[in-house]
Amino acid sequence: MNRFHSSIRFCLDLIYPNRCPCCEEFLPWNEYLCRKCREKVFFCPDEVLCRRCGKIKSECMCAVPLEYDEAAAVSYYDNGARNGLLLLKDASNRNFGWYAGVRLGEWILRQPDWMKADGLVPVPMSTGKKLLRGYNQAEVIAKGISSVTKIPVRKDCLIKKHGSREQHTLGLRERAMNVEKFQPAGRDLEGLRLILCDDILTTGATMSRCAEILKACGAEMVYAAAAATVYRKKEG
Ligand SMILES: [Zn+2]
Ligand SMILES: [Zn+2]
Repeated sequence: MNRFHSSIRFCLDLIYPNRCPCCEEFLPWNEYLCRKCREKVFFCPDEVLCRRCGKIKSECMCAVPLEYDEAAAVSYYDNGARNGLLLLKDASNRNFGWYAGVRLGEWILRQPDWMKADGLVPVPMSTGKKLLRGYNQAEVIAKGISSVTKIPVRKDCLIKKHGSREQHTLGLRERAMNVEKFQPAGRDLEGLRLILCDDILTTGATMSRCAEILKACGAEMVYAAAAATVYRKKEG
């Protein structure tokens, strides 16, 4: 956090007291999450997730063809993380996105292959939607990762065609069709290693389609980093 950013956060706190985005506890102005949620909501991906597909090991979906090479997430999409991501999406609190990005960054620092990445590519949102919300939540996560790893954020690799509908409002078949709306931004990505960043990994369809486009533009490796991964049943 630079000094300018700190001053803004401090002043905002006088008007809108800072709250933990996961449990809504009041927080000091310079903290992103309460200590309890920092410990309870986040995990190390190596211990619980399949490194190839990014799903909980008991729900590995590697049998489905995926275009990205490896994936990681630092929380399950439930309770606290769900709250945090809902606030991030409705533009009222970005703390969860930034903090999840920092946790992803700390994990990426320990992965020599991921650290060779040339850029962090936020999954884009359409211009209209971005204007409405004021920011792209995937970009908040990418910036959090970048603050730790110093890998640059690249917004010039992918675009999302205006008017495509939000994935979570659609059924499975519509989702597969809707995901086609991502497009290359016209850059030559020959030989680059890229890390796609998004908020939630559900079926992997979005990350996979984006990875397919990046590879068609020449990217050599595409990793997928998500704040949260969805599971159907945590045990068994
Ligand atoms: Zn909390
Ligand atoms: Zn898997």
